[in-house]
Amino acid sequence: MKKKIVIIGGGIGGLSAGIYALKAGFDALIYEKNPVAGGECMGWNRNGCHIDNCIHWLTGTKQGTSLWEVWKTIGAIDENTAYADTKKFYSSRLDGKEATLWKDLDRTKRELIELSPADEAEITKLIEHVKLAETCTVPADKPLDMMNLFDYMNMGKSMAGMPKVMKEYGNIDLRALAARFCSPLLAKLVTDYLPAEYTAYSFIVSYATITSGNGEIPLGGSLAMTNRIVKCFKDMGGKLFTNTAVKNILIESGTAKGIVLENGEVIKADAVISAVDMNVLFDRFLDKTFTPKDWAKAYQNSSDYPIISGFQTAFVTNAKLSGRDTVFFDCKPLTIGNRSFNRLSVKNYDYDPSFAPEGKTVLQVNLPQTDEDFLYWKSLSNEEYTAKKQELAAQITERIIKTFPELDGNLTLLDCWSPLTYERYCGAYHGGYMAFTTKPSVKKLKCNGRIKGLKNFYIAGQWIMSPGGLPVALVSGKYAIQRILKKEGRPVII
Ligand SMILES: Cc1cc2nc3c(=O)[nH]c(=O)nc-3n(C[C@H](O)[C@H](O)[C@H](O)COP(=O)(O)OP(=O)(O)OC[C@H]3O[C@@H](n4cnc5c(N)ncnc54)[C@H](O)[C@@H]3O)c2cc1C
Repeated sequence: MKKKIVIIGGGIGGLSAGIYALKAGFDALIYEKNPVAGGECMGWNRNGCHIDNCIHWLTGTKQGTSLWEVWKTIGAIDENTAYADTKKFYSSRLDGKEATLWKDLDRTKRELIELSPADEAEITKLIEHVKLAETCTVPADKPLDMMNLFDYMNMGKSMAGMPKVMKEYGNIDLRALAARFCSPLLAKLVTDYLPAEYTAYSFIVSYATITSGNGEIPLGGSLAMTNRIVKCFKDMGGKLFTNTAVKNILIESGTAKGIVLENGEVIKADAVISAVDMNVLFDRFLDKTFTPKDWAKAYQNSSDYPIISGFQTAFVTNAKLSGRDTVFFDCKPLTIGNRSFNRLSVKNYDYDPSFAPEGKTVLQVNLPQTDEDFLYWKSLSNEEYTAKKQELAAQITERIIKTFPELDGNLTLLDCWSPLTYERYCGAYHGGYMAFTTKPSVKKLKCNGRIKGLKNFYIAGQWIMSPGGLPVALVSGKYAIQRILKKEGRPVII
């Protein structure tokens, strides 16, 4: 009889675990609390438009890479996938000037030097290191802790450019990188996209993913990709139970024997994989004694281990911000709790015709949010929460129109949502949608996908490896199955 693997959470991590479990010959059952699977890799419809809530870039779209093979295995993309025809990563505006990070690195270099000749040496260095960082990848064949010397040597060879990148940008944050530029515009350019406390190499690697063609956006967006993965899981014989929240893990004598659903039903299993946010696992599913000490400390120290979330608004317009993708610009300050924001970004979803009716364009604004912002939102009553969202949406509308006057009278709010939305919908810790932010000089948390003292239990999901995100969620599901295979003494390459 086939062994039965029960997976909690139908996000990308859980779906990946499910598909790899089936591939390895197990029965796979996924329990998801929401009406649909996908977790944070999601999109929804409003007023005839589609709001894509995830993929800004999908790492692993380059054919021939190990990560691409894993995406293909779970049915997310294949040789025929069509991608958005975007030309740039994003642009930053300041004092009437605009700087752009193009996919074409030579063009970026040329234009940035034209904008600030005094920064030529720093620009040249940055561009050289982005080129080197194009070799960076997420290990997709097997988890780091299962690798032998030979595997490490191969990985080192394939990521040949990375040691230089880490040496130059691994020990400074983005604020320090910005300080290297004379031009205030270029300083904004390197701090606009990711939080300023992020390690500088995160920015270099993100941009390199775009320039190398390994970070495209599949047409149809996040929801369409999730639906392809769900179809693959079901076609292979997997069982997905939606609207089925899990309450905790059934543990007997230090061994996971199954799960208990919120409705009290007990589901027995030969192995249990948790693919929910790590905080849901530690805070709700397991007794506190199972929380590893370094994780418990991290949850108490948001200064060293911050999360990143967003207050987001989506609009539809009949006009086009032609040729633009994402643009950051200065604005009159707006406040959330004690924090003030004086820069906004508008992302133009014009690249995907399926997101809006003919002649219309969806625009989104994402205001970065922190642990402190989350606690502010949490402190509000229902009425205050609704009123604050409406107030912010109106202020954001006013500021967009100030920068793009052509949108005056032609901008309709579709929806707005906050870090609390991610907490409610996915159980995301403080509404965070990546793992803890990677800061220089702060020890990275490690997770080998197991819990000490708990047999037959495995962890998947983006939290197993910094910085999280879709590629980590993807490989985490595969890793969980490889760990089960290893325990059974079977070959782990699947
Ligand atoms: C706005 C935004 C933009 C993003 N952009 C990108 C991007 O461009 N590139 C990128 O790589 N990543 C991006 N990400 C991050 C990416 O979406 C996540 O890293 C990834 O989807 C996480 O997958 P996961 O499976 O680990 O977790 P989740 O997606 O959180 O899945 C966990 C699942 O568990 C379910 N669950 C929780 N509690 C229970 C319970 N008690 N019982 C049953 N089920 C439960 C949840 O409902 C959820 O479906 C973005 C995220 C957001 C929100």
